Amino acid sequence: MKTVIVVGGGLSGLQAGVFTAKAGEETLVLDTDESLVYNTSNIQNLVGHDSVSGEELLRSGRDKLEEFGGEFKQEKVESVKENEEGFLVTTEESRYESEYLVLASAGIHDYADPLDLEFEDGVEGMYMMDEHVRTDESNKVTGAEKIYAAGLANTWEYQASVAIGDGAKAAVNLLTDKYGEPYEDHDT
Ligand SMILES: Cc1cc2nc3c(=O)[nH]c(=O)nc-3n(C[C@H](O)[C@H](O)[C@H](O)COP(=O)(O)OP(=O)(O)OC[C@H]3O[C@@H](n4cnc5c(N)ncnc54)[C@H](O)[C@@H]3O)c2cc1C
Repeated sequence: MKTVIVVGGGLSGLQAGVFTAKAGEETLVLDTDESLVYNTSNIQNLVGHDSVSGEELLRSGRDKLEEFGGEFKQEKVESVKENEEGFLVTTEESRYESEYLVLASAGIHDYADPLDLEFEDGVEGMYMMDEHVRTDESNKVTGAEKIYAAGLANTWEYQASVAIGDGAKAAVNLLTDKYGEPYEDHDT
């Protein structure tokens, strides 16, 4: 039983997983390795980098996740259902259970059909998603308990920096919900 399963290990999912793993929570990130950020090799507007490629960001995100004890598995999530304990996540290879879910799979949500989520229409644009999972201001999925959404699964705001920040925000709010008080992460 994991505390958190993140569906989608692109930028938002990795950042969410890094946060929850660093908090000491059992974290599993499941990913098909098709992040949209592979399309760019020259991100210039991210604080901390003169220029960085999408591939470098993903690599460092996976390394950091594992450094904090989180797990990354390249497996496609086929379905997510509620069960007595929390959630049952089925991939092509295996089944996993978790207390919390973070949906971070950009425009792909068909695996979540059993959860009967609400969606909002996306905005016009060449690379925009058709729809986004409906959430509140804390990235918590509307009408659901213990499910958060991050990145392009949650918002049309289309940039690596936004996805990273949104993953962190989803995780901070998830941890706040779990601990029943505002979650703070201080590095020395
Ligand atoms: C052509 C192009 C150029 C871009 N250029 C820039 C740029 O120059 N600067 C910039 O800041 N941003 C750029 N972006 C935007 C940036 O890539 C996205 O904003 C960012 O990747 C969104 O992060 P995310 O986590 O929401 O989605 P992603 O990073 O796409 O991650 C979603 C992840 O979910 C996984 N997934 C999906 N379904 C499943 C499933 N069923 N099971 C398991 N895993 C699943 C995918 O494999 C993927 O890894 C560009 C995007 C494109 C398409």
